[in-house]
Amino acid sequence: MSTVIDLRSDTVTQPTAAMRAAMQAAPLGDDVFGDDPSVNALQAATAERLGFEAGLFMPTGTQSNLCALLSHCQRGDEYLVGQYAHTYRWEGGGAAVLGSIQPQPIAHAADGSLPLSEIEAQIKPDDAHFARTRLLTLENTIGGKVLPLAYLSDASHLALSKGLSRHLDGARLFNAAVAAGGDPYEAAREICRHFDSVSVCFSKGLGAPVGSVLCGSRELIKQAHRWRKMCGGGMRQAGLLAAAAHYALDHHVARLAEDHALAQRLAAGLQGLPGVTVEQPQTNIVFVDVSGPDKEKAAGVVPFLKSRGVLATGLYRLRFVTHLDVDAAGVDRAVAAMREYFGL
Ligand SMILES: *Cc1c(COP(=O)(O)O)cnc(C)c1O
Repeated sequence: MSTVIDLRSDTVTQPTAAMRAAMQAAPLGDDVFGDDPSVNALQAATAERLGFEAGLFMPTGTQSNLCALLSHCQRGDEYLVGQYAHTYRWEGGGAAVLGSIQPQPIAHAADGSLPLSEIEAQIKPDDAHFARTRLLTLENTIGGKVLPLAYLSDASHLALSKGLSRHLDGARLFNAAVAAGGDPYEAAREICRHFDSVSVCFSKGLGAPVGSVLCGSRELIKQAHRWRKMCGGGMRQAGLLAAAAHYALDHHVARLAEDHALAQRLAAGLQGLPGVTVEQPQTNIVFVDVSGPDKEKAAGVVPFLKSRGVLATGLYRLRFVTHLDVDAAGVDRAVAAMREYFGL
């Protein structure tokens, strides 16, 4: 087979036939008038699944996080956020540019968490010299790692005791929930109860073509709705897209376990290759350090993989992401190409 094994991201999936059928069958209306039944159904279902009062369909996770930050914070406020968090590093500085909200980045611990002592140390006193610290933003999963529930509880209590609101960038929330075991929707609610708002992506591992939902209180979502309009995110017959996301919410959550198993299979296949260090995956993302001892050789690995029909990202720290459109045979091809290159 000469099909390409695309492990660059879990965003690359194609909608399945059943998902396309759900889109085809979706009743539509003008969502700017609040008239799209499929959008309304997705919003209600996501909020209910995650234990919130309300939800709001967004075209992207970036817009969803931005509207959350704009709803929690005023001009001159500050949010505490991880140095490598999407909401700080990968969203074009939107909160600062569009919201006059100052980020206060915090270095991550090895498990991806933000140390509580650091969070506490960065909360500014009520003094005209400082921005007003208003919000703690966490991400779960972060770099494919699951934040421990006990940590979420502690961080949440700390934030509350200091008068901060709590936002979760849960782009891959359901990967964290599935990794926890048991009923994944219940596990997702367990995570979400430590937050005032959560943004979840449908276009990552869940396999929908487009879309995120921001969940929170009715009041917060009302504000986010106003910001979404201002950001140009008021979409019309968006039910076509919402139907795909709704299908994913109902049918593609539990199957994330298969992606996690394939990540384990990939990691196991790469064990013991000379010059290759595999970080043990917790969910669907495998990082592989190829930085030593031969840097020049390492720099050639991504182009070599591509020549063998396997796509990954990175230079010395490669990233392989498993998803709906790769299977065990695809993972085995990626392993074979790595073994060929690194000489086994
Ligand atoms: C993908 C992602 C987002 C949102 O990205 P969009 O491309 O704007 O949908 C937000 N946070 C994290 C952690 C992500 O991985």
